[in-house]
Amino acid sequence: MTDRVCRECGITNTEITAGVTDINGDPMCFADDDLCSWCQEHIQRQLEVDAARYRFLRNRQTRHVDFAAGGLFAGRIPENLILGGEDLDRAIDTELGMDIPHEEPLERRLAACLAECIDTPLMTGSLGGDARIPSQIRIGFFRPDIAERAAELLEEAGV
Ligand SMILES: [Zn+2]
Repeated sequence: MTDRVCRECGITNTEITAGVTDINGDPMCFADDDLCSWCQEHIQRQLEVDAARYRFLRNRQTRHVDFAAGGLFAGRIPENLILGGEDLDRAIDTELGMDIPHEEPLERRLAACLAECIDTPLMTGSLGGDARIPSQIRIGFFRPDIAERAAELLEEAGV
C-alpha cells in the first residue's frame, strides 16, 4: 500500500500518524486526498490575500479626479485604459478566455438612461402651428441647468 503524500509539502500520512505537528504545534491530518491540513490552511490564506488585492484594484474609483490623485490602478495596454469594477472583471474574464455573460455596468446603464432622458423630445410639433417649421421640446428648454449638469456627468462617464 502506498503512503499518502501532500502534493505541496511532501509530508506523508506515516509521518502525520506518527505525531508530526505543524509549526504551531498543532496536530496535522490530511484535509484532502493529497493535501495536508497545514498546506490547505496556507493555500486558503494565500487565496484570501489575493482576493483582497484584487478587490483593492477592482474597487478603485476610475474618475478623472482619482487619476489626478495618482496611485495604483489596473489597466489595459496599448489602449492606456484604466479599468475598475465590472469593467475589470469583464476584461480579466476575456483575457482568461472565460465566456461569462455580463450585463452592462450600472454606471453605463444609468448614463445611457440619463442621455435618453435629456435627448428624447418631450413634445414634437410645429412652431406656431406652421407645419413647415417642425419643433421639438426637450427638458433643457425648461431646465437648462439640469440638462447642462447631465451633459457634464455624461462626459465624465465617457458616454
Ligand atoms: Zn502539506
